[in-house]
Amino acid sequence: MKKNRISRRGFMGGSLAVLAGLGLPRGSKLFGQTSDTNTDGPKIKEYRTLGRTRFNCSDIGFGSSGVTDPAFIVAVLDAGVNYIDTAESYLRGQVESAIGKAMQGRDRKKVFISTKMGLRQNVTKQDVIDRANKCLERLKLDYVDCLQIHMPSTVAALKNEAYHSAIKDLKTEGKVRFSGLSNHGSQWGDVPETMEQVHLAAAEDGRFDVALLVYNFIQQEMGENILKAYKKKNVGATLMKTNPVMNYLEMKERVDKSEEEGRDVNPRMKALIERLKARADRAETFKSRYSLTKFNEIRDAAIKFVLNNPDVNAACPTILNYNDLEAYVSLSGSKFDLKAQNTLAAYKTTFGEFYCRHACGKCEPQCPHGVPVNTIMRYNHYFLGQGKEKAAMLDYAALPTNKADICSMCGGHCEQACPYGVPVQGLLMMAHRILTLV
Ligand code: SF4
Ligand code: SF4
Repeated sequence: MKKNRISRRGFMGGSLAVLAGLGLPRGSKLFGQTSDTNTDGPKIKEYRTLGRTRFNCSDIGFGSSGVTDPAFIVAVLDAGVNYIDTAESYLRGQVESAIGKAMQGRDRKKVFISTKMGLRQNVTKQDVIDRANKCLERLKLDYVDCLQIHMPSTVAALKNEAYHSAIKDLKTEGKVRFSGLSNHGSQWGDVPETMEQVHLAAAEDGRFDVALLVYNFIQQEMGENILKAYKKKNVGATLMKTNPVMNYLEMKERVDKSEEEGRDVNPRMKALIERLKARADRAETFKSRYSLTKFNEIRDAAIKFVLNNPDVNAACPTILNYNDLEAYVSLSGSKFDLKAQNTLAAYKTTFGEFYCRHACGKCEPQCPHGVPVNTIMRYNHYFLGQGKEKAAMLDYAALPTNKADICSMCGGHCEQACPYGVPVQGLLMMAHRILTLV
């Protein structure tokens, strides 16, 4: 075994505070492991100043969506990760509650916690204040470092005066230190304003201190423009969707299963399955050509790429389990070396066409049925790329628009409009099957 490898056992030593918080004695078992274990493992090596907040945040932040295990969150913090990105909507507050338990007994000032809330247009100031108080209750904290508007999909939504007025009061009461926003582009039912438009407007607005945006080695230009604008205004810049890599092995399995079952498959989907099959097979060749032992090395190179940009303060990948934690923390302070550069360049050429760019949505106005292409492909990414199957399926089920089953009866106008050549009609049909498990 690799020396110093982080393991669940290795992390458990840091869980004593949680055990105590849960009323369990030292030596009690969590996940079948006793708490009396060592704390070896990779630690964060680099901290960066989070814009005008002046907080020294770990270059790897904690995307907490889907995590409800306080002991695991303690392990994340013990590894030196000190930036937590969460939201009131993540598992309907359960993630905030888990963070609250994990924070018990810790030095509050050493962790920066950002939480987010989505705002309807007609939200009142009192609603925002009440919801912020509920967040604090779940987090068991006196204050959050940053309260962010979750996905303001238009510039107008950024200017929501009920929110800004509530923030003012919450700051005066010491319950919120900074204001922020997150935006990853198109959403169902949106006026089509891009991620770039919204973030650039936020930089200009001047009332936002921290932002969460999409930036990765394929979806590059938009992110770089935003990062420059935030740098100029000294706004803290954190990232999501840093890893645009499709899970080919999972995809291959699904393709093989469809074939085995001899399903009656729509010709467009059949054609896509053939292309995916060929791609999935080529993925193995790609791995050996670029001396990759596992496909996750592309994910790792993708993190090195974003950290190489000095305008990035923290990459906040979703960290769901101990393997993720080991992988991401090990990347702290790493350099975007030649091998990583070559691997990503080759990946982009070979597989880039299968990536429906996060925060894009350029084809959506062409859809006669109002299908939210980019949103559905994002849910597909949550399922296949981030392992958040249940949440992805629930999100998809809750879409109030036409879903991708309708794509089998269409001429594929979106695909013709995609400037990146993404075979999106077939991908949408496949995403529908994955997200509904039909
Ligand atoms: S299919 Fe193409 S144009 Fe449509 S959202 Fe995806 S990347 Fe953008
Ligand atoms: S395939 Fe047709 S129905 Fe489906 S998103 Fe594209 S344009 Fe809309």
